[in-house]
Amino acid sequence: MKKRITILGSTGSIGTQTLEVLEKIKNKESFEIQGLACNSNLQKFIPQIEKFKPKRVCVFSNEAYKSLKEKYDKLEILYGEEGLIQIAADDTDILLTATTGNIALKPTLKAIENKIDIALANKETLVMAGDIVKAKAKANNVKILPVDSEHSAILQSSNGDFHFIKNILITASGGPFLNKTKEEIYLSRADEALKHPNWNMGRKITIDSATLMNKGLEVIEAHHLFDIPYDNIKVVIHPESIVHSAVEMIDGSVIAQLGNPSMHIPIQYALTYPKRTEGIETGSFSFFDKTLTFKTPDTDKFPCLKMAFEAGKKGGVYPAVLNAANECAVYKFLKGEIKLKGIIENVEKALSKARQIENPTLEEIFCADFEARKIVSGF
Ligand code: MG
Repeated sequence: MKKRITILGSTGSIGTQTLEVLEKIKNKESFEIQGLACNSNLQKFIPQIEKFKPKRVCVFSNEAYKSLKEKYDKLEILYGEEGLIQIAADDTDILLTATTGNIALKPTLKAIENKIDIALANKETLVMAGDIVKAKAKANNVKILPVDSEHSAILQSSNGDFHFIKNILITASGGPFLNKTKEEIYLSRADEALKHPNWNMGRKITIDSATLMNKGLEVIEAHHLFDIPYDNIKVVIHPESIVHSAVEMIDGSVIAQLGNPSMHIPIQYALTYPKRTEGIETGSFSFFDKTLTFKTPDTDKFPCLKMAFEAGKKGGVYPAVLNAANECAVYKFLKGEIKLKGIIENVEKALSKARQIENPTLEEIFCADFEARKIVSGF
């Protein structure tokens, strides 16, 4: 039986690298691309359709839909939010969610209802609605497999058994501003923040790495993924990005997952879990002539990390507010409308104005998300 895979966000950084993994994986005939979905980047999407021959595709924009319809008369082409839900939740075994933003949340929940395992690369899913997503996954006996390198490292180090775990240690490279002063960081512009030292990622996540918000969102995700209280999650700055994260056991033993920084490895592990196979050559890892350093994060220079811990601990709608305000502010930053300091201030402002709802419904979460965006965009 072939494993049928559907990718949401196939033209993005993780989506593209997932297709590279599937091209090079040793037993590639045991996988089948069932569906591919993207926003509107047809220049990248059409070559993917030609090469991987998906059974169905989905685009978000109506214009892109019309162009595809003209080009392919036999291919099943879907569009918009309804199309995304359909492609995510029908006739597939694994759904890999690699879109940015909250667009993947409803399709992911629908896929879980249809007992489809999730390879999770989208941060918003668990950050916004972790309790709802986890409850639904449990009720439907669905696996949520992390694609993110840190969560994959925790899964690999724990061997999937969290009974004996005391703390989890999430590593962070520290981003391009690790050794800059607070003033330099706060006044920086997008072009400076986009120069990440170790990882090749999309633009939004690269900015989040520069502010350490990315790590904050990963902390919230880890809390949900592994059922670990926030006080047992530690963030460690590790500029070399060799230790991808670690777990500390109740007997004091610490187990870490190491390797060359490459997203291909965690992507492939999510697809072959719990097995392993040969795939893209990432170069043999060598311990020789390497220095590994670890530091405590400076939350005075990087307050986003602290805000994320606080929002996570408060729970309810706060993580969704944090995420929405941050996303909105990051796009303003990328457009050059604000300095990096503006991201921090906007998130602070949205959080201070938020009204808590305990155990919010999905509608209430989207409402809080919308309100936070309104505050940041000034409408
Ligand atoms: Mg990560």
